[in-house]
Amino acid sequence: MGYVLDRNDLVLVTGGGGFIGGHMIARLRERGFTKLRSVDIRPAEEWYQRFSDVENLVLDLRDREACRTAARGAGAIINLAADMGGMGFIETHKAECMLSVLINTQMLMAAREFGCKRFFYASSACVYAADKQTNAEVLPLKEADAYPAMPEDGYGWEKLFSERMCRHFREDYGLETRVARYHNVYGPHGTYDGGREKAPAAICRKVIEAKLTGRHEIEIWGDGEQTRSFMYIDDCLKGTLDILKSDILEPINLGSDQLVTINQLVDIVEDIAGIKLERRYKLDAPKGVRGRNSDNTRITELLDWAPSIRLRQGLEPTYRWIYGQMANR
Ligand code: NAD
Repeated sequence: MGYVLDRNDLVLVTGGGGFIGGHMIARLRERGFTKLRSVDIRPAEEWYQRFSDVENLVLDLRDREACRTAARGAGAIINLAADMGGMGFIETHKAECMLSVLINTQMLMAAREFGCKRFFYASSACVYAADKQTNAEVLPLKEADAYPAMPEDGYGWEKLFSERMCRHFREDYGLETRVARYHNVYGPHGTYDGGREKAPAAICRKVIEAKLTGRHEIEIWGDGEQTRSFMYIDDCLKGTLDILKSDILEPINLGSDQLVTINQLVDIVEDIAGIKLERRYKLDAPKGVRGRNSDNTRITELLDWAPSIRLRQGLEPTYRWIYGQMANR
């Protein structure tokens, strides 16, 4: 590993009020980092995790001055802020998703200006070409499959463009950028309703609703046979910090390779909840690609990283947390 993340360095996490950002701040605190700055556009009371010993700033990072305020003095930047959500959001808010390019552009410029030593950017499996994902029994996606480019419209194009901008800032300006392509991340302390939620949280919420109301039915988007892999947040955090410190210059997959259908995901959540539901399939709902899995050959080879948490194991705390939130309301 080329770079050692120094506990005395100020680490900035953007999107710190969100799901992965909140966990990242929590993890860095656990690891003994004392100079942490967390930035998000959400009002403070809506952050999923918030710590009083962290410098918490509410800023709109589409704005240049806000990015300068955020980046000033930061040794490392973990850039997780984005206007995003699950399929229901990104298929219907393409302009908003693409406007995250302002965040990434301004953050890179500010990082360069203030001499940041390491800059991590969270890209996505949505950069992968659509024609590689038309089959449920998909071949896992290799890093090279992003080109020739035909990513998810809107969100995926922005991610692919920002990946390249990270590369050119490194090549032309010497800013040490590192990029991971996250494949579906899930866990507690994240969005589970309101339209931005992703499949694991949405399914947990629907199963809990059925349990709490006694109406034993569930609506599933598509025919339920579309396939995905889901990475538990703890694996994501470890992988992110490993990539940040590494010498891996090209974008690299960070995801689980445990492929499941959405129906199997529902089976697991039903099992955790101890109920069986009647399934109604909404075939005209946003479904995304037919099949998607992560090829982990490179990350295993280069970092000896592999997901350590099986889906059932990670869904249990996720379900429990969402249950607690819903039961309290
Ligand atoms: P999230 O929505 O929970 O967190 C993103 C945070 O960014 C939110 O709290 C949001 O308020 C904040 N944000 C949005 N616009 C902002 C702005 N203008 N200024 C400041 N903050 C702003 O999402 P997440 O799941 O934690 O995702 C974190 C990153 O990982 C994002 O870049 C996302 O695209 C990427 N990613 C996530 C997944 C996943 O499955 N969760 C998969 C692929 C990539």
